[in-house]
Formats: sequence, structure tokens, C-alpha cells
Amino acid sequence: MTAADSLLSLVGGTPLVRLGRTAPEAEVHAKLEYLNPGGSVKDRAALAMVLDAEESGALPPGGTIVEGTSGNTGLGLAQVAAARGYSSLFVLPDKTAVEKLDALRAYGAEIVLTPAGLPREHPDHVVAYAARLAKETDGGWLADQYGNPANPDVHRRTTGPEIWEATAGRVTHLVSTIGTGGTITGTGEYLREVSGGRVQVVGADPETSLFSGGDGSPFAVEAAGHYWHPQTVDVGYPEVYRPDVVDRVLPIGDRESILTARALARTEGLLVGGSSGTAAAAALRVAREAGPDAVVVAILPDSGRAYLSKYHSEQWLRRQGFLDDDRPGTLASLVS
Ligand code: PMP
Repeated sequence: MTAADSLLSLVGGTPLVRLGRTAPEAEVHAKLEYLNPGGSVKDRAALAMVLDAEESGALPPGGTIVEGTSGNTGLGLAQVAAARGYSSLFVLPDKTAVEKLDALRAYGAEIVLTPAGLPREHPDHVVAYAARLAKETDGGWLADQYGNPANPDVHRRTTGPEIWEATAGRVTHLVSTIGTGGTITGTGEYLREVSGGRVQVVGADPETSLFSGGDGSPFAVEAAGHYWHPQTVDVGYPEVYRPDVVDRVLPIGDRESILTARALARTEGLLVGGSSGTAAAAALRVAREAGPDAVVVAILPDSGRAYLSKYHSEQWLRRQGFLDDDRPGTLASLVS
């Protein structure tokens, strides 16, 4: 062991663990992104975007990092800001859970709330508001995770090579959820290139999400997938997402995602979030189809700690109607 110079040098380098109890006949590995210091896969993009902005001069010393997100990217950016001496400012919808606001404030971030549900083209919609604040703030810089090429690039440089190395080049399938598309695009590009096109890149997507051909209606799994606000104009896929890198996208229903996340906690000891359930469910399906020679790697984006009152709560599951079916192998059969 050596002492790290900075918390930020501990970002990335996450382990793979085989899902040996869930899929004993197959070789399915989970990449545990919740072991990043900020608790999610977004630590990588957050750090990379900041380093890139430092280098280009877009973020001056002592400047302010601005973004419109309540999710893991916000935590990653707030963490980098604290560790490198920047201020951070987040614009969030006013319905954001208080725990998320408190987590950002704990890192010293400033929060601006805007009404939830505004159409995308409204000047006070989180994205437009954050862009405006970045311009108006002296030394302000907008991270822009959906359009920033440093986001997919860090996965090309780190996540992809880590998977190749950890499987000694044996990986046959990559399975990843798609939010900004940074993870799947960068990791997928690297693994396709290094394997001469042998590695299959599979998206795992909430059933009604647009990446997998859904109608864009809302779904329960947070932070992955893509849906339209009913009053919103079609803004297209995120700029950083490259669908041509992805061989296919599997739609996974909320019930299956949540059931799988809960099963991972109970049978593997992996307490993960809902999108990890989506990725693992798709990986298990891929392994079943591809047969015993497949080496499947699923990226699990974050921890279940943030969702103890949702996917891992029996009361929440009951309220959402997920426990209405008590056949064996269903969610109802997994609780108490
Ligand atoms: N799952 C979770 C929990 C996330 O926070 C994110 C990032 N929004 C994703 C999946 C998707 O990752 P990406 O943005 O790299 O596509």
C-alpha cells in the first residue's frame, strides 16, 4: 500500500467481481463503480472534465464549477471542487430529494432551486439556468456532461483498459446503462478497438426509455435511460452518445431491474442502485443467450445506499405496486 497524494488519484481502478452465486454456470462479472471515492461511475467524468477545463483555461484557478444535476455527476463535481480549491454551484429542480441537496451542501456546494417540470426551452429550466449562471459568474465554467467530450474520453482511457486487463483480454460482451452515454460510448469504443471488433457492446435500458425504442414515458429506475417531458420539444440523444458503438440495446422493465438489484444485495452482498439492477439483468440475459464461452462484464454505476428508501424499501415497493405479484421469483417472493 502507498499513501495517495490526493483523493482524486483514487478515482477509477475499480474491481471486477464474478457473480458466481447468481450465475454459477456462466462467466458474468460486475464492475463495481460504487467503490469510487464519491460513490459512483460519475467520479471519472467529473474529474476528467475538470482537468480538461483546467488545461484549456476554461476553468481559472479558484473558479466556480457549475452544472444542472442532482445526481452522481453533481457529487463527483462537488468532490473535485473541494479537493482542488474551486467553488461549486448546482441548479436543481425544487422537487429534488433533501438528502441529495444535503449531500451536495456537505461538500460545500451552493444550490439554486428552480421549479420542477419546466419545459426544456424555458429560460429557468435547469440546463438553461445553469448555462446562464456559468456565464454570469466570474470565473464560472459549465461542466456540460451531456456535451463534454472529456466524459466519454475518460472511459476510453480508463474504464475500457481496466476491463481488458482484468479479464486478460477474454471479455466478449460489455453491458452498460446509458444516461449521458459517456460510459458505454468510451468503454465500448476502446473494447471494440482493442479486440478487433470481437467485443459486443450491449446497452441496458429502462423499458420505456428512448435508447431501446420505448415510447419515452417515465420509468422508476433513476439516472439511466432517456424520456421526454410531455411539454418538451425533441432534443435528440445526448451529444456524447454514439449509438454506432452499440450493437444492441436491451429493454429491461422496472420490476426486473429492481428485482435484480435486490437479488444482488441478498445473494452476492452487493448493495447497488436501480440502474445496476438494469445492467446486471441485461448481463444475465446476454450470458444465457451467448452460452458458456461468453465472458460478460456489466458496469454497476452506483451504490444502493442512496436508494434505501426506494428500491431497497419494502414499503416503497408496496406503494408502487411492485409487490402485487407473489409468484416465486418475483419481487414479492424476495421480501421478508
Ligand atoms: N446509472 C447511474 C446511477 C448514473 O448516475 C448514471 C449517470 N447519469 C448512469 C447510470 C449512466 O451513465 P452515463 O451518463 O455515463 O451514461
